[in-house]
Amino acid sequence: MQVFAPTRGGEYPHNLTLKESILNPKSNFGGLHTLSSLPTLPSLQTLLPLSYIELTQEIFSLLHLQCDELRVALRSYESFDDPNNPAPLHFFEDNLYIQELYHGPSRAFKDMALQPLGALFESFVEEEQYLILTATSGDTGPATLESFKNKKNINVVCLYPAQGTSDVQRLQMTTQSAKNLKVLPIIGDFDDAQAILKSLLSDEDFHSTLHSNHFRISAANSVNFGRIAFQIIYHIWGYLSLARMGAITLGEKVKVIIPSGNFGNALGAFYAKLMGIPFEKIIIASNPNNILTDFITTGVYDISTRHLLPSFSPAMDILKSSNIERVLYALYGAKRTQELMRALDTTKQYTLTQDELALLQKHFEANFCTDEQCLESIKKASQSGKIIDPHTANGYFIAQKYKGKTIISSTAEWSKFTPTIAYALCGEKMEDQKALEWIATNYNLTIPKSISQLFEKPQNLISPLQPSEVKTAILQWLGILSH
Ligand SMILES: *Cc1c(COP(=O)(O)O)cnc(C)c1O
Repeated sequence: MQVFAPTRGGEYPHNLTLKESILNPKSNFGGLHTLSSLPTLPSLQTLLPLSYIELTQEIFSLLHLQCDELRVALRSYESFDDPNNPAPLHFFEDNLYIQELYHGPSRAFKDMALQPLGALFESFVEEEQYLILTATSGDTGPATLESFKNKKNINVVCLYPAQGTSDVQRLQMTTQSAKNLKVLPIIGDFDDAQAILKSLLSDEDFHSTLHSNHFRISAANSVNFGRIAFQIIYHIWGYLSLARMGAITLGEKVKVIIPSGNFGNALGAFYAKLMGIPFEKIIIASNPNNILTDFITTGVYDISTRHLLPSFSPAMDILKSSNIERVLYALYGAKRTQELMRALDTTKQYTLTQDELALLQKHFEANFCTDEQCLESIKKASQSGKIIDPHTANGYFIAQKYKGKTIISSTAEWSKFTPTIAYALCGEKMEDQKALEWIATNYNLTIPKSISQLFEKPQNLISPLQPSEVKTAILQWLGILSH
């Protein structure tokens, strides 16, 4: 039996391995590698006593993704605040629990998967040199750089919009000093950075130049299946944590609310549900870019008339949500997925049938939160002494609409988005450093060292590049073109 399947059909020449899926994330017909089917979990009782590492090993083995390199890769959780509990779950209020996914080095949930993925990637690379290109709106960049720094035979180029990130996010990139990392600011917004990335990935001249210099190209964005695999684990862990703290009995249903953009986090929860974790519903939280809310409530995915709206929760400012494709595959199969994805490429929209929509709604619900409501819910949470980041606040706002036991995925620490939080709390606009101190003082919080140190470290300052200058800058940095 094949472990992986291509989302848009066709066949693999042989049984694709985890290693191949990670090193080369593109699949047939422009689609993605995905799991061909999902196994059923053993009884929850047997999972309950496992440590986080043991649970990961157990689930990887059940998914037929077990490999020798995994043990070492999982050591990367030692860089988390509590290596034994990298994704802690806490009581929030009434029936609400919060799972904090931001205890890794870059203080956003991206570390949960990118930390072990970087280690796996390094152990899979043999003699060849890899170039990993990434474009970030703020959180993926720092997490990718943090994960791949000093990794042998791997070179990372990270493009970011010069004016588009918070100070903390920018400093997390420009203060990186490892030789194998190159951070390039781009004149333009995140869409421009992403457009450069896409044009480079399909630039044949660029590819053949790299190839003849023995470089291979890969990606660490959320289409890489390696990330998804690790994102299943913490959702299972969160459910088991509820049982361990006596909040539920094993088997009791709970809802989970997930602030979503590219749908990687939510896909992990969906797979956990299909494997048998009793998630009653996965509730997708959107911001004003509420395409996912529209899709899940109406079955119409339509980007033809939409423009990206900059919001207070920038990591969710996305219209083309890549991992939806894996949901389509799991629910409707490859043939239909190809049909729908083709329609999206050519007409910028597609519509599910009534039956298909009903199936989607068996698993998902969705709701959105305006920027105004986001600020209000940051303030509301602060009244019981809890400081949440704007992404989590979208989820918290939506939680008010539901009853019953619910877990909110908290996707970033307050320390990453302090100007927005300070604005919500006191109505004043401050820069990152001032806002950090103001919040820490007024709410008795400790600024994590990794954040406070950023303001003292030397920066690698490069003047922002025009899109047309990026290719040359990369080839020069790799030593392929001379300066
Ligand atoms: C990336 C990110 C999200 C969105 O996660 P997806 O997996 O892309 O849906 C939400 N919140 C924060 C803080 C993020 O960094």
